[in-house]
Amino acid sequence: MPNRNATPSAVTEAPSPSATAAAAVSLTDVAVRFRSRKRDVTALSEVALDVRPGEFVAIVGPSGCGKSTLLKLVAGLLRASSGEVRLGAERVEGPRHDIGYVFQRAALLEWRSALRNILLQAEIRRMPAAQARGRADELIRMTGLTGFEDAYPHELSGGMQQRVALCRALLHEPPVLLMDEPFGALDALTRERMNTELNRIWRDTGTTVLLVTHSISEAVYLADRVVVMSPRPGTIQEIIEVGLPAERDYGRTLGRPEFREAAGHIRDLLGAVQAHD
Ligand code: ADP
Ligand code: MG
Repeated sequence: MPNRNATPSAVTEAPSPSATAAAAVSLTDVAVRFRSRKRDVTALSEVALDVRPGEFVAIVGPSGCGKSTLLKLVAGLLRASSGEVRLGAERVEGPRHDIGYVFQRAALLEWRSALRNILLQAEIRRMPAAQARGRADELIRMTGLTGFEDAYPHELSGGMQQRVALCRALLHEPPVLLMDEPFGALDALTRERMNTELNRIWRDTGTTVLLVTHSISEAVYLADRVVVMSPRPGTIQEIIEVGLPAERDYGRTLGRPEFREAAGHIRDLLGAVQAHD
């Protein structure tokens, strides 16, 4: 388990550490170009990023700068036009099953209960039933869904649906969890609660997280480092070390100088366009 209680440090322009076999996720000089008859789009260019095992990295940037594309590369749903993507020591060359993926919409099956939606992951992976059930129960407890195991998606609030999606993504204990604006559709209060839960789950499970978000405060609240991307063609503009202790708390974290400094710096980088976060 990585040490998540490192002493806070100042906001720095942290250069990406050189690629090592120890990185949970690494992108080396990655570019993605989409070619169609009508136009060529360079979605990502010169992207280099090493994510440490157990690290929480948030990715922010203007719409269309390639954030979703970056996650799809890591998941193996998309191939880089050039450069290299690795998960642990392995080169990503096709869809990966050792990751969890959470999207903006929970994408639950309406005809399955919460528990059966979570267990879908086990069925797809042919996990032993007892092991899957035990793990599902643990995640249900962890995410505060106890008592709602038999509820159908339409009986659950948006926040609860997203918790079910999170449980499903974590069922097989993936070393890497990819989240693409998972809380964007939730109201502010639910989003705060989900952030607090995600912080706790991350600390409890030791999973490596890559989170795409439009919210600067969400990024700083949750992450060890925040990757700020520039508009298309998406490049990494800067990587900000947040320097807050691993355990975050809405009451205290938002008032801390490290939080305000990092959020202010990111806001400056992204400019007026996103300053109304
Ligand atoms: P973001 O998630 O940051 O909003 P995306 O990664 O979805 O951005 O997209 C980055 C750019 O690549 C956008 O200009 C988008 O239109 C383009 N793009 C994404 N996927 C495809 C695709 N499959 N074919 C062509 N262009 C694409
Ligand atoms: Mg996107």
